[in-house]
Amino acid sequence: GPVLGLEASCDETAAAILAPDGTVLAEAVRSQLAEHTPFGGVVPEIAARAHLAHLPALTRQVLQQAGLRPEQLGGIAATSGPGLIGGLIVGATFGKGMAIAHGLPFVAVNHLEGHALTARLPGLMEGGVAFPYLLLLLSGGHCQCVAVEGLGRYRRLGSTLDDAVGEAFDKSAKLMGLPWPGGPALEKLAETGNPKTFPLPRPMLGRPGCDFSFSGLKTAVAQSIPKLKTEQDRADLAASFQSVVAAVLADRAKNAIAMMEGPTAIVVAGGVAANKAVRASLALVAEKHALPLVAPPIRLCTDNAVMIAWAGIERLRAGLSDPLDHAPRPRWPLAELTA
Ligand code: ATP
Ligand code: MG
Ligand code: FE
Repeated sequence: GPVLGLEASCDETAAAILAPDGTVLAEAVRSQLAEHTPFGGVVPEIAARAHLAHLPALTRQVLQQAGLRPEQLGGIAATSGPGLIGGLIVGATFGKGMAIAHGLPFVAVNHLEGHALTARLPGLMEGGVAFPYLLLLLSGGHCQCVAVEGLGRYRRLGSTLDDAVGEAFDKSAKLMGLPWPGGPALEKLAETGNPKTFPLPRPMLGRPGCDFSFSGLKTAVAQSIPKLKTEQDRADLAASFQSVVAAVLADRAKNAIAMMEGPTAIVVAGGVAANKAVRASLALVAEKHALPLVAPPIRLCTDNAVMIAWAGIERLRAGLSDPLDHAPRPRWPLAELTA
């Protein structure tokens, strides 16, 4: 039967129901942006309470949308890490409760596996992307190149030595006086800027491997702030920052492909995948290697429950489920997964 996915690992509360073939029957996301904005970032305690307040109603809503009663489901998949422990406990415990009440299998989904497998949703690319493929996970909390070799088989090729790329966007945007979350605001400002104005460092560019580093770039942005006189200067700095990030990501992706055997595609996930300059720069790399660049629609790039339900379906199909005493894991590297 259809699978219910639940996501509460960070600052989005989400529920979704997918048919066994991956058809999305219903989906709902409630962002906590309004709750956290006064604090300029996600407050874990507020996040956990908001998940608890909204998850039951979201679940009822998707069941109603899908026209299903809980006992008609084939399983419950809930994000069980990595993430903020309060929210993970709320989501996983709620999911286990439903599993017990209706006698359904429970799948403890790794949030990163959710992002990694989204590209395999049959609706996205004829039949979904086949293994192996290169995943670039570009979010506020993660920045990694991952070789996705199979279900539960992930090889981390490189990751950030300091800030995640979304974090770099957010911190640089804050330095420029833009509102949180800074990524979208910075992209908007960059539209009218000249990317060649500020000679910023291009961290890791040309180095072997595919690790990232963004703290030096952030420092260079901080040092440029006193030079900003006009609104045009601000736009120019935003555009310069964005073009450096896009160039660095492309360079890292190029090396990551060389570390894989026969990848079928480059897949991007995470909020930064929404950035048009980043997408364009990665599209060029993909084209050079005659690979498709698969960028799921934005709502499936950022945190959502469709990806959690889908990961649950892939695991259930492989005969995998988890015991009800499975403990949520705030840290849970992809490389530790099994299938
Ligand atoms: P994670 O999923 O790793 O736990 P998260 O919740 O921060 O972390 P997402 O919700 O996937 O990740 O993405 C949010 C991040 O994406 C923020 O850092 C935000 O600034 C960035 N972002 C969103 N849109 C854009 C954009 N258009 N350009 C650049 N960055 C963006
Ligand atoms: Mg988020
Ligand atoms: Fe995420």
